[in-house]
Amino acid sequence: MPKPYDCIVVGLGITGSATLATLAARGQRVLGIERFDLGHAMGSSHGITRIIRLAYFEGAAYVPMVRRAATLWQALGTRLGEKVMHVTGSLDCAPAGATATAQSRQSCLLNDLPFEELDAKAIHARFPGFSLPEGYAGIFQPDGGFLASDRALAGYQMLANADGAEIRAREGMLSYKTTAEGGVRVKTTNGTYEAASLVLATGGWIGEHVPALKTIALPERRVLGWFQPDEPARFAPENFPVSILWCDAGIFYQFPLWGAAGFKIGCHYHLRQQSDAETLDRQVYPEDEALLREGLAFAFPHANGACLRMTACHYTMTPDEHFILDRLPGAEQVIVASPCSGHGFKFGSVFGEVLADMAMGRQPGFDLSMFAMGRFGA
Ligand SMILES: Cc1cc2nc3c(=O)[nH]c(=O)nc-3n(C[C@H](O)[C@H](O)[C@H](O)COP(=O)(O)OP(=O)(O)OC[C@H]3O[C@@H](n4cnc5c(N)ncnc54)[C@H](O)[C@@H]3O)c2cc1C
Repeated sequence: MPKPYDCIVVGLGITGSATLATLAARGQRVLGIERFDLGHAMGSSHGITRIIRLAYFEGAAYVPMVRRAATLWQALGTRLGEKVMHVTGSLDCAPAGATATAQSRQSCLLNDLPFEELDAKAIHARFPGFSLPEGYAGIFQPDGGFLASDRALAGYQMLANADGAEIRAREGMLSYKTTAEGGVRVKTTNGTYEAASLVLATGGWIGEHVPALKTIALPERRVLGWFQPDEPARFAPENFPVSILWCDAGIFYQFPLWGAAGFKIGCHYHLRQQSDAETLDRQVYPEDEALLREGLAFAFPHANGACLRMTACHYTMTPDEHFILDRLPGAEQVIVASPCSGHGFKFGSVFGEVLADMAMGRQPGFDLSMFAMGRFGA
């Protein structure tokens, strides 16, 4: 058998790719395994853009991690010679007094982030793409924006290669076992490999590889749409921040025009259709479009034109919508990483660093207890 690797990373979505690149940059001997083509559209990491927000309504504890992530995204851009993170500011809007925006405000206050509170009128005056009803208000935080996600994903894979990582795509992991020497042996569709540690970053498939997560990390279908605006300038990056909108029809998220024709909008829970990642229905239907149009009609009437494009993919949801980032109980050399529930991409850069630390036996720079598998009794 060839000399073991320091680490094998299985799954080359954003989490695995950033981890692989970070380990390779640190001079580790690493192997990345991906069952599909690099950049494929079967997981959660493909696509033109992802939101990065710092006023984190999901919890103030995320903010130091997003801050580090933003620094690393900028550094990735510098190394690639192209801009990966685009700052537009981020706006969370909801009926005045809503819990979600109170949590965004709290995240700012606890982490000394600059922010402004705007009512519906002020939002429209400043960002004319928004037409919110009276009684709505928003938290605007100037440091958020969007990531050129496809470029970031390919970028980490290119850097991993450049720094000596081996990548095997179109090769699926079939099984893994811990060895008597304290390492791991990974069997794939093409061969068997050994390493001192293993990072499992298999997204919607994580439950297949970690049986304790089978009923906890659940893939759910989501659909994104791009719609023709009647006045595109209202939605240009300099006029329209990335945003989250809470309204009766759902929690919508939207982007300025960038990288593709059309105003991009998604609904966080969409129709809450659970599926397994393999057999997910990737067709789109009139009811998918109808839901997205509810968000457009409510707040973005100038973007409610022809539908230019729709795509279906999956989130991997946990019950509390926080991530899973932990060592496998009883097998410390196996690290389980499933940062999804629809908000994990922005952390890809920092989790690459955190997971590389864990794989190398170093103490990560953040308290990861909120991501422990044990919180579900797993
Ligand atoms: C529609 C949508 C919108 C989103 N919007 C945002 C956003 O705006 N901001 C944000 O921060 N986050 C967002 N997210 C979430 C974010 O994209 C995900 O959290 C992130 O991409 C998850 O990455 P991952 O690498 O953990 O998983 P994945 O990207 O799913 O990667 C897992 C990889 O493992 C591979 N794999 C599985 N099994 C095997 C095996 N046996 N052998 C080898 N390889 C295997 C898969 O093929 C896949 O490539 C969004 C997600 C979706 C779907």
